[in-house]
Amino acid sequence: MRPYLREKIPSSIDEIPSATAYEAGYLVTKNSGWRNVRPVIDTATCVGCQNCYLYCPDGVISIEDGKAKIDYDFCKGCGICRTVCKPGAIRMEAEK
Ligand code: SF4
Ligand code: SF4
Repeated sequence: MRPYLREKIPSSIDEIPSATAYEAGYLVTKNSGWRNVRPVIDTATCVGCQNCYLYCPDGVISIEDGKAKIDYDFCKGCGICRTVCKPGAIRMEAEK
């Protein structure tokens, strides 16, 4: 089967959705208990590029007022958001 190709590639960041298809609250089970580290965003460094939002496998990052925000009830602590954040605005901290 041929891979699906988008008919139109967004020409600007304004065409990229600013939230996931479903809000995190649609998930039935909170999975924050899986975490032993949590991502923490330095809002002064965040440029609102949406990379973390696009790559988060759980769709728990939203962009509010031009800054990334994480729903910790559903973040499993995988660290992908930190890896894809080019400005280095996300650090992982040990859960206490
Ligand atoms: S990838 Fe980094 S700079 Fe971009 S929105 Fe997320 S936290 Fe902000
Ligand atoms: S640590 Fe993983 S699940 Fe949590 S916000 Fe980052 S990418 Fe999403």
